[in-house]
Amino acid sequence: MEVKILSALSDNYMYLIIDKETNKAAIVDPVEPEKVLKTVSDSGVQLTTVLTTHHHWDHAGGNVDLVSKASGLTVCGYDERIGGLTNKVNHGDSFTIGKLLVNCLYTPCHTSGHICYHVVPPSGESDGAVFTGDTLFLAGCGKFFEGTADQMYEALIKKLGSLPDSTKVYCGHEYTVSNLVFAKNVEPSNQDIENKLNWSRERRSNCETTIPSTIGEEKLINPFMRVNQSSVQQFAKLTDPIKVMAALREAKNNFKSSSL
Ligand SMILES: [Zn+2]
Repeated sequence: MEVKILSALSDNYMYLIIDKETNKAAIVDPVEPEKVLKTVSDSGVQLTTVLTTHHHWDHAGGNVDLVSKASGLTVCGYDERIGGLTNKVNHGDSFTIGKLLVNCLYTPCHTSGHICYHVVPPSGESDGAVFTGDTLFLAGCGKFFEGTADQMYEALIKKLGSLPDSTKVYCGHEYTVSNLVFAKNVEPSNQDIENKLNWSRERRSNCETTIPSTIGEEKLINPFMRVNQSSVQQFAKLTDPIKVMAALREAKNNFKSSSL
């Protein structure tokens, strides 16, 4: 299994997932179809599937154009608002790309129809990767446009948090540095956050991506995945983890930092 990271628009990511054994491939959120098709052609792979995380234009806005240029594609997603949708998926659904197994995780909150895709190679050669769209970012999470804090708790803690710690996390945007600046504000003495912030700033100053992280790493640095930790609860001045989740989101929405 190989994942090619393709940057798009100002800070979006598209991901080409390749099954090296069969040369079949899927693309996550192909908002720039020409760039996708060039990479597919340069890589010599057969694109079979579009994995759409949610209906927002900067994720699903290239689907119709891509389908018109590359016929026979299966377009997966949950939300009826997704352009070009051919296969509506639900939580627990699974299918294959070549020999890679894709499991669908329904994670409503950022939008009411958001899906994360957990992709696992055959024969347990690794714990695979999860494509989290605008639900889980590196060190952050998406805004609650169409959902509630308990839905985000369910998504981050119960569903994504149950994946093996070594699962690689590929998210929808490059927001890592600003997320970590907020995370440091929440937990000033968390050394893992400090180290990751320094590393991420170095990467970005060289125009390199900070993607991917892992589920295990997110549990150390992502305040939204740490709502059960006393240090995060102290910041929120609350103990109920769902209320902490709501308070963190509100604080992040209002957070302004001059140290980006
Ligand atoms: Zn979005």
